[in-house]
Amino acid sequence: MEIIKKDIRALNKEELRDFFVKEGDKAFRGNQVYEWLWNKGAHSFEDMTNISKDTRLMLESNFVINHIQVDQMQKSSDGTIKNAVRLHDGLIVESVLIPTPTRTTACVSSQVGCSLDCKFCATARLKKMRNLNPDEIFDQVVAIDRESKLYFNRPLSNIVFMGMGEPLMNYNNVLKAIDKITSSEGLGMSPKRITVSTSGVPKMIKKMADDEVKFQLAVSLHSAIDEIRTSIMPFNETFPLKDLREALQYWYAKTKNTITYEYVVWEGINDTKKDVEALIQFCKFAPSKVNLIEYNPIDDGDFKQASAQAVEMYRSMLERNHITVTVRRSRGKDIDAACGQLANKR
Ligand code: SF4
Repeated sequence: MEIIKKDIRALNKEELRDFFVKEGDKAFRGNQVYEWLWNKGAHSFEDMTNISKDTRLMLESNFVINHIQVDQMQKSSDGTIKNAVRLHDGLIVESVLIPTPTRTTACVSSQVGCSLDCKFCATARLKKMRNLNPDEIFDQVVAIDRESKLYFNRPLSNIVFMGMGEPLMNYNNVLKAIDKITSSEGLGMSPKRITVSTSGVPKMIKKMADDEVKFQLAVSLHSAIDEIRTSIMPFNETFPLKDLREALQYWYAKTKNTITYEYVVWEGINDTKKDVEALIQFCKFAPSKVNLIEYNPIDDGDFKQASAQAVEMYRSMLERNHITVTVRRSRGKDIDAACGQLANKR
């Protein structure tokens, strides 16, 4: 009978230390293995060179390391890299390395597919299969950090949870992954360099505030008018703007952090003065920043990027109202790696 071995990364540090004590070894051995797993990103017991061969074999007979595999890597003409990542059960997600002159950002996935149904998003067409485990999120970051060092001679500097899935619908695992990424025993990254981007789940935004998380929050808003937002993000019917705003007010009261809104302007959908006025009104309760993101059409989609004049109208009206605004060009369009394009298409 085949013995199903446990994934060693499901054990926390204390459990690892206890395991070694039960095996008649020193608890300290658990610290060494923990460091290999979460600081050095080891994917095999063989890599653990300061552990004796016998101990490595003993680990091998008790555990597995269910790690991801970069199945395919595509490079865009602008330097962006998209990884198709195979999980231990054969499912695939995507993550993206976005280089700029001063930073390397990893855009990582939190779910296989997505349970939400934003009309403009390619991922929404994939059925949600499951949540990613903390180690599967962590491994995407390690893979991109290695690629950043290899191709750009610098480590990864920022992480955004903007890949496949709604991170707040997989909150516990996202938090556990961030803990490993930020802790000194893990990758030691500053939480300030991590942004969790949500489509706006009010209850979970409040929970994040209560949990006193240290990373940044971004909200994919796209419209501050309920009727329009519901037509492009149907779950807005369940979580209307007034609930979202109330949750964000709660978040701001607790964290005093600027709120970032991700916003695409589409032709004929949200490109009028009335739309900008609604956005300004929505932003008023807290210091806000609006990222106007260029849209990347998905195949047969009905969504078209608005004209340069409409984007300029947004920019100037927001600035006049003292709202920070950036206009972001999308990257990796030629390999379907840009915002809203992740759909396991290869
Ligand atoms: S935009 Fe985000 S939340 Fe909406 S369907 Fe796509 S992956 Fe899910």
